[in-house]
Formats: sequence, C-alpha cells, structure tokens
Amino acid sequence: MYNKAFEKESFKKEVKDNLKILYRKTIEDATKQQIFQAVSYAVKDVIIDQWMATQKQIEKQDPKTVYYLSMEFLMGRALGNSLINERAFTEVKEAMDELGFDLNSIEDEEPDPALGNGGLGRLAACFLDSLSTMGYPAYGCGIRYRYGMFEQKIENGYQLEVPDMWLKNGNPFEMKRPEYATEIRFGGTIRVERDCQGREKFIQENYQSVNAIPYDIPIVGYGNNVVNALRIWDAEAINTFQLDSFDKGDYNKAVEQQNLAQTIVEVLYPNDNHNAGKELRLKQQYFFISASLQRAVAKFKEKHDDIHRLPEKVVFQLNDTHPTVAIPELMRILMDEEGLTWNEAWDITTRACAYTNHTIMSEALEKWPIELFSRLLPRIYQIVEEINRRFLIEVDRRYPCNQEKVKKMAIIYDGQVKMAHLAIVSGFSVNGVARLHTEILKNQELKDFYEMMPQKFNNKTNGITQRRFLLHGNPMLADWVTDHIGNDWITDLSQIRKLAIYADDKKAQQEVMNIKYQNKLRLAKYIREHNGIEVDPRSIFDVQVKRLHEYKRQLLNILHVMHLYNQLKEHPDMEFYPRTFIFGAKAAAGYRTAKLTIKLINAVADVINNDKNIGGRIKVVFIENYRVSNAEMIFAASDVSEQISTASKEASGTGNMKFMLNGALTLGTMDGANVEIVEEVGEEHAFIFGLSADEVIRFENQGGYNPMDIFNNDQDIRKVLMQLINGYYSPRDPELFRDLYDSLLNSRNCGRPDTYFILKDFKAYAEAQKRVEWAYRNEEGWARSSILNIAGAGKFSSDRTIQEYIDEIWHLDKIRVEMPE
Ligand SMILES: *Cc1c(COP(=O)(O)O)cnc(C)c1O
Repeated sequence: MYNKAFEKESFKKEVKDNLKILYRKTIEDATKQQIFQAVSYAVKDVIIDQWMATQKQIEKQDPKTVYYLSMEFLMGRALGNSLINERAFTEVKEAMDELGFDLNSIEDEEPDPALGNGGLGRLAACFLDSLSTMGYPAYGCGIRYRYGMFEQKIENGYQLEVPDMWLKNGNPFEMKRPEYATEIRFGGTIRVERDCQGREKFIQENYQSVNAIPYDIPIVGYGNNVVNALRIWDAEAINTFQLDSFDKGDYNKAVEQQNLAQTIVEVLYPNDNHNAGKELRLKQQYFFISASLQRAVAKFKEKHDDIHRLPEKVVFQLNDTHPTVAIPELMRILMDEEGLTWNEAWDITTRACAYTNHTIMSEALEKWPIELFSRLLPRIYQIVEEINRRFLIEVDRRYPCNQEKVKKMAIIYDGQVKMAHLAIVSGFSVNGVARLHTEILKNQELKDFYEMMPQKFNNKTNGITQRRFLLHGNPMLADWVTDHIGNDWITDLSQIRKLAIYADDKKAQQEVMNIKYQNKLRLAKYIREHNGIEVDPRSIFDVQVKRLHEYKRQLLNILHVMHLYNQLKEHPDMEFYPRTFIFGAKAAAGYRTAKLTIKLINAVADVINNDKNIGGRIKVVFIENYRVSNAEMIFAASDVSEQISTASKEASGTGNMKFMLNGALTLGTMDGANVEIVEEVGEEHAFIFGLSADEVIRFENQGGYNPMDIFNNDQDIRKVLMQLINGYYSPRDPELFRDLYDSLLNSRNCGRPDTYFILKDFKAYAEAQKRVEWAYRNEEGWARSSILNIAGAGKFSSDRTIQEYIDEIWHLDKIRVEMPE
C-alpha cells in the first residue's frame, strides 16, 4: 500500500515551498504550527486533484446524492485522518522524520474542529467517512461556528469554559465558495397577492436578512480517490456599511444586519440531549437549512428541468429534529419559488425527507412557542399550520372525534410547535439508532404514530469508523490485526471475526496484552504531563469518557469509587487489584448538577490520590477537555469500558463500540447498543448488571421508587451518602455536595428522588465490579475476552450502518473515481 502522489522527496520539497510562500520561512526557523500548515497544504494539494476528479465523475454520472443535515459535526483533526485515508501516513511520517520532525507532534498542532457536542455530532462525522470510503455521493450540511465546543479547563476541581478559537490560525483544509452565497430572510410580514391566474403569491416584507456563505471541507474516502464535502455555512451581512447610509436613514438597519450576521454563527450551543429553546438556536437552524436546501434545489435544476423528479436524485436526512425546518422550507421553495401546488410540493417533500430520532428524553424534545416561531419564520409557520391542519383531518378520519389522539400527535398544540411530530408526519422514514431504542419508540414513546404509519419506522443501529478509531488511534493494534488477518478489515470490518481463532492462542494473547500495556504507557505519560498524577500501567484502566449527564450516571461510578476506598480503609489487608479510574466529560455550561459531579470526582481524586496509606491501589484521574483527539488515545489504553446509563435512556451510544474495537471489556447496563454488543461478543465476555429498560419504564409508570428504603437498610450506601454531606471530601465546605445528596434522596427540589435509579442499581454495580476484578486476575481469560471483543466488533462499523441507510432509505448510486497515472 503506497500512494504515489506522496512520493517522499517531492513531498518534502512541497512542504519547504509552502513554508516559503505562506510564511517567508525556512524549515529551520519555522514554528511547529507553521510546519503543520505547510504539511496540511501539501496534503490538500493531493486531495484537490481527487476532489476535482470526483466532481467530474458526478457531473458525468448524475448519481443520487444524500444531504446529511446536521447542526453538529464533531470531526476531530483532519491531517492524520486524511493521511490514513490517502494511505500515505507511513510515507509522510518518514518524510517528516527526515526533515527532523515527529509527525505525531505536528498533528498535535491542529485544533480539533469541535463543531459538535458528543455522540450525535461524532456519528455525523463517522457517516461522512463511511460514505466517501464506500463511494457514495454525499454532502454534510452544517454551520461554521466561529467558536466550537468550549475548551474545558479544570481549576480547583471546577470546570471552566474557555472559548474555542479553532479558526485563529486559519483552517488549511477549508475552501470558501462565495459563488454559492445565498440570502436568508427572517421575520417581517407576509403579504398575499394574486397573479393573473388567480393563484396566491406570498411576499415576505420588512424582513431582516443575512448572506450565507459556504465553506467546503474535503472528506477523503479510504484508498478510492472519492472526496465528498462537508459544507458549513458562515454568515455575512448583506449590505456592508455604505458611506451614504446615514443620509438614507437606514444606519440602524445596517447595524442590525451586521449584528445578525455576527451572532447567528457565533457559537455552538453546548447542550447535549437538552433543549434550551432559545430564539437564536431557531435562527441557526433556519439559516443553515434554508441555505443548504436552496443550493441543493439549484444544483438539481442545473441538470434537470422537471422539479417533480427531485426525489430521484436527492434525499435529505435529518439528524435529529434540529434540521426539521427543512420540511416547511422545501415546501416553501417548491410552492413560492418553483410555482408548484400544495399537493405537488407535498408529494416531493414527503419522498425526499427522512428523520433520525436520537433520544426519548423529554427535556431534549424540541418545541417552539408559536409566538416565537411565527414571528421569526412567518411564511414557514403558515406552511406548518397547513401541514398540521391536513394531518389532523387524517387523524380524525382514522380516530373520529378522539381528542386524546389529537393531543398526543398534533404538530401544533398548546401554543407550541412540536418538531418531532412535524418530522414524523412529513418524512417517509423514521429511524431509531439501536434495536432497543427503536422498539421503545414503536411501543412506548411514538406508539400512536407507529400505529398510524408503521411502514415509516425502522432501525439503523449506529456505528463508528474503524479508520479513525483503530487504524489511526491504535496503530500497534491495527498492525497486529493486519498481521493476522490481512488488511481487508479496513474497509470491511466484518472480516475482523477471523481474529476469533486467536482467542486461545497464548502468543496472540500475550501480544494483545502487550499492545494494551504499551498504549497504557502512552496514556500514563499523557496523564503525568497533564494531571501531574502517576498512574500504574499495570493497574486496571477503568474508563468512563462521554458527556456529563445524569442519565449516563457518572455519579454511580464515583459513589462506587468512594465505597471501594471506604473498604480499603476499613480492611487495609483485603485482596484488591490496583485500579485507575479515568473520567473525561464536559458538562453543559448551565447544567449545575453535572458541574457539581465534576467537582465531586476531582475532590474524591484529591483525597484518594494523596492518601499514602492505601499504597496507590486506587487512583482517580479526570482528563481535562475530553475531545476526539485525546479520545482516540484513551480508547486504545482502556481495559474496562463503563457504559452504565439508566436502562432505556441511552439511545445507542457509540463510545461503547470504540472501546470494544480496542479490546476493552464492557461493564454496562442492558441499554442502547450495549444489548447488541453483548449479543455479538457473548455475555460471558462482558459485565452486565442492573435494571432492564422494561423494569425502569415500569417503575417510572408507577411514579418512581423510594430510595429511603435502600438508604435505611444498606450501611455501605449510607456511609457513602453521608460522606457527601459531612465534609469528608470537602472539609472547608461540608455543604458543597448537598445537592447531589438531595437529588438521590429528597423530592423537595423537583420531581422524584433518584430519577436515574442510581441507588437502586448500586449493589448490582458493585457486584459487577467485583466480577471485573476477579476476571482481570486471570490474565489468560482476560486476554481471551479482549480478543473476542475485538473480533466481535465487526457489526459496529459505520460502513455497515451506512449500507443499511442506503439499502433501506437513501438508495444512492455508487461512483468510481479513477485518477490519471
Ligand atoms: C464517541 C464520542 C462520544 C460519544 O460517546 P458516548 O459514550 O456514546 O456518549 C462523545 N464524545 C467524543 C469525543 C466521542 O469520540
């Protein structure tokens, strides 16, 4: 495997030339950041040729294309991944060595483009990687936030949010496309006119508007010359200040348009699985959707004169409800701009839009007050009203005079516009993201819709790209896999099953354990440098990295650490296998309980890590600023994958899959994709505990359970809970963790105590943790399970997920791109 375009000598020359052109520097006096830029432009040069060839092929073939509409794309760094997919990583690494630079440290100069919060945004990024690699035409459509996900700093144990200025040195991979600038209109009023044939025309007046300008970022397929684009939209004021604007009296308007442009793409909302309902957020949604759709329709019309055939060439996938204004916006374009009737527009729209549901959590459901929605998007609101009116006629036909059904399914109800209902009613497909999640949608959350339109519902279990999360993130294990089964797994992960025959092979077991050890050394070094904590690479690396959220139950994990520490203090001579508990998590900036949990983890870490009397047998590490780049290294070094969400709450999870592929064993509940992970690897190679989704839902329907029974009857739990309020981990402020205590025991704040069944699951979790310890003592047994986890991860490639989307929803045409010699 060798990419001729990256011939070493010419590559080195191009890096030097770039340094000269960009910075007037020689390689001797350039900074590392400048080297990163110069290398990236050299790589981009190769990518551009393939990008042009891809465009040419698409021009010729006119294949059906998916537009993946998403508020979030959590891409991670581009340089290393592009080199991996160009199959040029090794050559370029050698070239850089010869120039006197370590490629890994050059990679570290790239900021993570963090245009996403967590799983949902990372899924979008994995999907784009798979689409290019499998040769399918696709656009990712999103927003070019000036500030992506905040950078997390930990100070005195607390999370601080620092603005992420990811564009401050420029982004060498992006291309501005001013020729596709589009005007986006907000607010104002709608005037109705009739044309000579008596047809209504809707004219928006007194609106504010901004220009949307796209930037394209190349998405390189693995070894196939296919390059798709992530198209992210920036906002610019329409009329920049004109000297005479004072005289014309529209100075205020000019200022307003400037402000609108600046604020609209300013920041990514840092909420994961939570809807804040802010006006600016709806503006962001309409901004990028209107721009993406106007462009998609214009592109279609360049080649076709019959707009009715749009669904034959174009499909829009809605990543959660965030892009749902795509539905009324497409109706608007088709009726108001293309002159179609309602029925014609509806026929096209309902064959072109499909919706993915990512959560059943009520606080995440998007609802907009009518007042806000109709003020900001007056024409769009008219269209939603009409969709709702017609849908309710259908509901009444199916369930005559049934107000219950109207209440549960109406798109507009109780003064609110419900985006999920709009997406379900208007799309041709509704998919969940893991089998359990889809079953809960069909049988509980969306039962009424499922009964009315069962044919729309389907499951697409999430996946991850093995190119980033094994080939790039864990090069030693990747090489080992290739040595044993060849390299087909890189584009066909089902091949990785072939590793199973090595599960009992002593040599293979030792090699896999040794690779894990080397990766643990790499992470231990990172922890030493970033946290100043010494961790024992021979201890069990027990890892929970994901967004901080109550339903993900980091609190259960740290309460159990407190319990283990209590036991070690009470029985200093007890048998105990050394453990390193590693956490990484950002909390939404306004999420108090989540931020307090971070403080608790760090407070517990301070006490335990500095206790000389336990001989370093427990260490607790909170890794600052968890993001894609350090995630890659963390998965590679993990022994235990903590996937302990309250059953039914985690729709799928994808972190669970990344751990598995890197040989970690899952410690988890029967939730989300954990169910399917266990099905693939076998329950004996994972540690499953706790309430089932059915049991959780049954308790919820009964109005919860009483955690005081547990508090009163279980000494271990009581001791841990008392330590939250007696100053054990916070002597100066014993009340510091009172809110966490209250959330578990008291209903006085709001709602039920222990909503997420932490105390209910505690004993089962502690017992499962004992099983982990005993399993780890058996090194052969552990190595065997680890190999079987890697071998069982084949299903969880995003390539498999994308193939299912293509076969059952998108029906895209494949393209082949040949490069001239
Ligand atoms: C995979 C990933 C996630 C999602 O993790 P879950 O455990 O599925 O919630 C979040 N953030 C980053 C950086 C990831 O790589």
